[in-house]
Amino acid sequence: MKTIAVLTSGGDAPGMNAAVRAVVRTACENGIRVLGVIRGYHGLINGDFVEMDLRSVSDIIHRGGTKLYSARSTEFATEEGMQKAIRTCKEHGIEGVVVIGGDGSFRGARDLSERGIPCVGIPGTIDNDIACCDYTIGYDTCLNTIMECVDRVRDTTESHDRCTVVEVMGRRAGYLALNAGIAVGATAILIPEIEFDIQKDVIERMKRTQLANKKHFLIVVAEGVGVDVTELSKQIEAATGVETRACILGHIQRGGTPTVQDRVMATRMGHYAVKELLMKNIGNRVVATQKGEIVDFDIFEALNMKKSIDKDLYQIAMEVSI
Ligand code: ATP
Repeated sequence: MKTIAVLTSGGDAPGMNAAVRAVVRTACENGIRVLGVIRGYHGLINGDFVEMDLRSVSDIIHRGGTKLYSARSTEFATEEGMQKAIRTCKEHGIEGVVVIGGDGSFRGARDLSERGIPCVGIPGTIDNDIACCDYTIGYDTCLNTIMECVDRVRDTTESHDRCTVVEVMGRRAGYLALNAGIAVGATAILIPEIEFDIQKDVIERMKRTQLANKKHFLIVVAEGVGVDVTELSKQIEAATGVETRACILGHIQRGGTPTVQDRVMATRMGHYAVKELLMKNIGNRVVATQKGEIVDFDIFEALNMKKSIDKDLYQIAMEVSI
């Protein structure tokens, strides 16, 4: 391949910049021209490209967000939008595209690959909800951000003998809530993958710990369970007598300096996407990590895989945080 493009799409995740840097540097070092696409598939449709070189990715490895910007493009998900993107790719001599994003972005990459533009997906999403992959870029940074924020909330929760119900991100997956919940010692953790009953799994658990002299509580709720944390706080206060506050962490969870793990994983995946796949004219693949190794899957197969939450880990959390 003589020219490739790289884009970031869907929700931004810390470490996306490190992945872009690795893609650009690997390509440049191997004599391949790289175009950076601005605002994901939106930019691919409209030809919003920047010429990348070794120095255009300087000083971004430590930055959160994405220097290429991200977007959700409804136009791209239509046949007409897709055809426009293909025309733009052909006009600019783009022979392969690296797509850094989540499941939705990979659906777009699969469709583009099927229409003759080989794409390689790199999992960049804080939710860790890509089935073929043990770990997604941004997940570790996000977990650490949640932990840091909740540790702060904990100080005030403890000082006033309160309960704080913390809502964390995760629309379809509870990986963030489960692991952050363990890391902050939450008394109860509500995630979409595990059925729960507020009375039994929150209120009665709190009452049990009260009997063991516990006076302050943290409850972690994944946004995907669809519980209104303000209402839940009122319910808890009425049932337990413990003053309870709701805290929705929101977009603060997305930002910040990527951790070592995210930077290293992003670098390995970005390098692999170019060196092991596009340079060998292999497209329609998702780069993944399994048990620490970098591997790749057919995008179609990857999108059909299922990922389950570690129920043993949930049990451990329940046994220990009491
Ligand atoms: P995250 O889960 O972190 O939000 P994502 O990649 O899943 O990331 P989406 O908003 O679902 O985020 O998808 C990003 C973009 O991918 C969409 O705006 C759209 O342009 C494209 N896309 C999504 N689904 C499809 C599809 N079925 N066919 C073609 N393109 C799609």
